[in-house]
Amino acid sequence: MEFEAVIGLEVHAQVSTKSKLFCACSTKFGAGPNENTCPGCSCVPGTLPVLNRKVVEYSIRTALATSCTVQRKSVFDRKNYFYPDLPKAYQISQYELPIARNGHIDIEVGGQGKRIGVNRIHIEEDAGKLVHEGDLSGAQASLVDLNRSGMPLMEIVSEPDMRTPEEAVAYLRNLRDILLYLDVCDGNMEEGSFRCDANVSIRPKGQEKLGTKAELKNMNSFRNVERAVEYEIRRQIELVEDGGKVVQETRLWDAEAGVTMSMRRKEEAHDYRYFPDPDLLPLMVEDSWVEELRGTIPELPGPKIERLAGQYGIPKYDAGILASSRKLADFFEASVAIFNGAPKTTANECVHWKEAILSEKLSPETIAHAVEDRENGTISATASKKLVTAVLETGKPFRSLRDEKGLTQVSDTSALDAIVDQVLAASPKEVESYRGGKTGLLSFFVGQVMKESRGKANPKIVQEVIRKKLG
Ligand code: ADP
Ligand code: MG
Ligand code: ZN
Repeated sequence: MEFEAVIGLEVHAQVSTKSKLFCACSTKFGAGPNENTCPGCSCVPGTLPVLNRKVVEYSIRTALATSCTVQRKSVFDRKNYFYPDLPKAYQISQYELPIARNGHIDIEVGGQGKRIGVNRIHIEEDAGKLVHEGDLSGAQASLVDLNRSGMPLMEIVSEPDMRTPEEAVAYLRNLRDILLYLDVCDGNMEEGSFRCDANVSIRPKGQEKLGTKAELKNMNSFRNVERAVEYEIRRQIELVEDGGKVVQETRLWDAEAGVTMSMRRKEEAHDYRYFPDPDLLPLMVEDSWVEELRGTIPELPGPKIERLAGQYGIPKYDAGILASSRKLADFFEASVAIFNGAPKTTANECVHWKEAILSEKLSPETIAHAVEDRENGTISATASKKLVTAVLETGKPFRSLRDEKGLTQVSDTSALDAIVDQVLAASPKEVESYRGGKTGLLSFFVGQVMKESRGKANPKIVQEVIRKKLG
C-alpha cells in the first residue's frame, strides 16, 4: 500500500515589542534570572493584566500579510494546567475567538507553486523557564526563572496542507521571512523567538479522511524540522505496515540520536477547561485601524522576488537571495539606480558582500562604483575586490582609494601597443611557435605583458592586441 503524509504546523513567534503582553516588564533577552519580572508576570494573585496595544497592532499586521481576516471581536481565554514555570496555573491565550482566521502563505518547492492555508492566528503569553542544577549542598535543585513569563507570542496555525518535509520547511521559511519583513518578530530560532511544532500523520494514498497525528516538539532549526518530520513519517509508515496503530501523542525530537520519542499522550482541548478570562474585556478591533495598518504592509518577499527578476532581468535564484532580506534588496536597488546598468553584476556583488551590507558597513555608492569601474574596464575584478575590502578597513571612498593605490588598469590600446611590441620582440622563438599553431602560448605573452605593466594592463584588452598583432 502507498502512503501519503499530512503535515500541519503550529508556529510560536515572539512578538518583538519592548514590553510584555500584560505588564510593562522588558522583553530583552539575556537578563539575569527573574530580573525582568513584576508582581503581574510573577503571577501574584490579585494583580491585573493590561493588554499591550502594540502586540495587537503587530498581530493585525501579521494577519494582513498572511491574507487572514482580522476578527472584529476576539476573546482572551484561560487555558488551565499546572506546571512550576506557570505559578498562576493558567496561561492567557485565545481559543474560540482568535484575533485572525483563514489566510494563506504561498510556497514553491521544486519549481512547483502551492498555497498553504493559515487556519488562525492567536495572541497568547509565554510561560517561565525551569533551570535544573545542583544547589549548594550538592543536591539537585530546580530553579524557576520567570523572565519569559508573560512574553507576547503569536501562535500561527496552518491547515494540514503540507505533504512533504520540504513543503513544511518552505512554509516555515516563507513565514519567517514575512515576519522579518514586517519587523514584528526577530525570527531567532536558537533563542526561541520562532518555534515550531509539527503535526504529522499518514493515510493510504487516495483516502480523504485524516489519520491520527503525532505532534513533534523541540526542533530549533529548519534542518531539524526537516529531519524530524522525515523520521516521523517513516516511523508511522513502518508501524502501520507492521500491523500497529499510530496513537495521538506528543513526541520530542532528539537531534543527536536522530529520532522522535514519546513524551506524553496528547491532552484534549477539554482537559484545559478553557473559559474567557474575567480580568480582560473582549478585544474589539475597529475597521479603520485595520485599514490604517494595511497601509503599513511593505512589499512582501514573494512579490518582491517576481518584481526584481522581471524589472532587472536577473535570474529568479538571485532575486530570491536578494529578497531574503528587505535591507539587501533595498541596497541592491539603490546600487543599480546609481550606476544605472549591469544589474546582474550588481546582484553578484551584493550577494558576495552580503554580510558587510547587512551590518551597514558598505554604502550603495561603493558597490555601484565597483561595478561601474569594472564594467568599463577601469579596474580588474581582483582590484575591485581589493578596493572594497580597503573601503571596509579604512572607511574611505572607493574611488579615492582606487586613485591613491593606483589600481586603475590600462585599457587604452595605444598605451598597451608599445609594451606588447616590446614583449613580442623579446621572444622571437615563441612568436614563431605561436604562428606555427601553438596558440596556447597566448597566455604566456599575456603574462609577460602583465609583468611589464606591473599588473596594470587590462588582460582582456592585452589578449585582443596580441591576437591582432600575431595575425
Ligand atoms: P489540536 O486541537 O490537537 O491542537 P488543531 O485542530 O488545533 O489540533 O490542529 C493543530 C495543528 O495540527 C494544525 O496545524 C493542523 O493543521 C494540524 N493537524 C490537525 N489534524 C492533523 C492530522 N490528522 N495530520 C496532520 N496534521 C494535523
Ligand atoms: Mg492546537
Ligand atoms: Zn511583569
